[in-house]
Amino acid sequence: MSGVGKALCTPLLEWYDDVRRDLPWRTNPTPYRVWVSEIMLQQTRVEAVRGYFTRWMDTLPTIRALAEAEESVYLKLWEGLGYYSRVRNLHKAAVLVCDAYGGALPADYDRLLALPGIGDYTAGAIASIAFGLPVPAVDGNVLRVSARLNDDFTSISEPKFKKETRSLFCECMPADRPGDFNQALMELGATVCLPNGAPLCEGCPVQHLCIGFHRGHAALLPIRAPKKARRLERRTVLLPRYGELVGLSRRPDSGLLAGLWELPSLDGSLSPDAVRTTLASRGWQTGKLLSLRPAKHIFTHVEWHMTGYYVELSAPPDELTFVTPAALRTDYALPSAFRAFLSVIEEDA
Ligand code: SF4
Repeated sequence: MSGVGKALCTPLLEWYDDVRRDLPWRTNPTPYRVWVSEIMLQQTRVEAVRGYFTRWMDTLPTIRALAEAEESVYLKLWEGLGYYSRVRNLHKAAVLVCDAYGGALPADYDRLLALPGIGDYTAGAIASIAFGLPVPAVDGNVLRVSARLNDDFTSISEPKFKKETRSLFCECMPADRPGDFNQALMELGATVCLPNGAPLCEGCPVQHLCIGFHRGHAALLPIRAPKKARRLERRTVLLPRYGELVGLSRRPDSGLLAGLWELPSLDGSLSPDAVRTTLASRGWQTGKLLSLRPAKHIFTHVEWHMTGYYVELSAPPDELTFVTPAALRTDYALPSAFRAFLSVIEEDA
């Protein structure tokens, strides 16, 4: 990587000052607000995060409030954002911060990095944006910008490439505005130096420095390792009703969607007769069984293709927890994978 150097700073920061988006976490960027926003923004679009962030801060305005919150409260606030281990780690880290640092995040990159759920990118973002420390924050956007600026055909998935990008941006980071510099690079990647071969080079503030652009390679970069194909799983999801109540179960404590509430499900895509037989063998007393519209949900490594059934029960099986549709909406965090099957009871809530 040859490096575009310090010449990058001035045009990048001038551009950022002009066009930066007005985002709720940029107002009053305390360490806690930066931390929560960065965790929410992993794998999620900025527009989707706005509402979540505001609701979160209204309910859990401090690290101590998060540390003392019930699991059901923070899971509900996270409902729909996916990757629930992120919110569990937020809570675990908040408890640690209260125990070890009196409820305030430490102004130290290595100590931030040691907290659950905080990787080098998030530690860099908190350190630079909230504490003004000169530490890079290299996410996927920044790796893409770096590959194009330097016309570098190394795979951005390689640790070596990330390491070189960190040291390049560390060298040219302005001492007085490290947080803005990092945010400007992320903003450039998110709004101008777009992914999938579609950079908007004509509006780019650093086009004159961009080697990839001048060599005509911008749309070919970055190079990444081919993704592994997702595993496909077929599941039969049940919407059990006992009177007006809905039956839920808990997922196992490890693996996908660990420990969360779910609609009970069976392996494979089963016919109505096979569902009746399986449920009878488990002691469920079923009445009407109606097919629901099939649904699909994509996780990072697995894709669920789901067949659904509305199951009326004449007695509540012990293995399920029964709740009202209204409580399901307000008090139980149900992963989005199951949402498609709830439309038939939405008017009951
Ligand atoms: Fe990205 Fe194009 Fe700007 Fe280069 S000139 S940094 S490829 S948007």
